[in-house]
Amino acid sequence: MKVTIVPCLSDNYAYLLSCGDGSALVVDPSEAAPVVSALEREGLRLVGILATHHHHDHVGGIEDLLAKYGKMPVFAHESDEGRVPGQTEKVKEGSKAEAGGLTFEPLHVPGHTTGAVSYFGHGAVFTGDTLFVAGCGRLFEGTPEMMYTSLCEKLAKLPGDTKVYCGHEYTASNLRFSLYAEPENAAAKDKQTRVLAMRERGEPTVPSTIAEEIATNPFLRVTEAALRERFPGETAANVLGAVRKAKDNFKG
Ligand code: ZN
Ligand code: FE
Repeated sequence: MKVTIVPCLSDNYAYLLSCGDGSALVVDPSEAAPVVSALEREGLRLVGILATHHHHDHVGGIEDLLAKYGKMPVFAHESDEGRVPGQTEKVKEGSKAEAGGLTFEPLHVPGHTTGAVSYFGHGAVFTGDTLFVAGCGRLFEGTPEMMYTSLCEKLAKLPGDTKVYCGHEYTASNLRFSLYAEPENAAAKDKQTRVLAMRERGEPTVPSTIAEEIATNPFLRVTEAALRERFPGETAANVLGAVRKAKDNFKG
């Protein structure tokens, strides 16, 4: 699978996915114009849309793409029916999302929203606003317990070399918080050095990998002693809630 990163809006990423037969899927088209340009540049024909959740900065381009290219499958969680424009396919845990010669397993990962889905397949996972590089989405519709299950019991259990493609370029500021939460985390320090150089060169910091996230992302590290001491909680989910609250108020 070839993945083309398509920067949208101020800090969003959409992704074109192609298996090499000239067709492509797009993940989270927040706006149509950059997606259309990328399709033309790559010589690809759009045949399907994967939506990770209903927020406008992830689905805002769907209607324009459908108007331009005609009917095609639009995948989103079954509970997001009515919230994702043009949705034709209702995915859920255990179902499949298949189009353009590619097949993905949708993981239902509530927390940021109740209908959040990550699409796993071909050695990659598209996480929208659930798992960011070195961070996670705000808990708009879900609880810390939901986010704990989504991040630590589902996404963190994927193979370590799975490439992580998320919905926003928040990595540099996320890593400032990672190092506030866990000042002695050498892997996070090392990642920060690499990320700052990449941003200096104007490069995206995606993809990360699940193994790198387990090493550097405080939200995947809530069972580590250093984090539990700083953010006490009875359960790992409580710790995650405390870390999330600290991040919400972090002015680093
Ligand atoms: Zn969102
Ligand atoms: Fe977003």
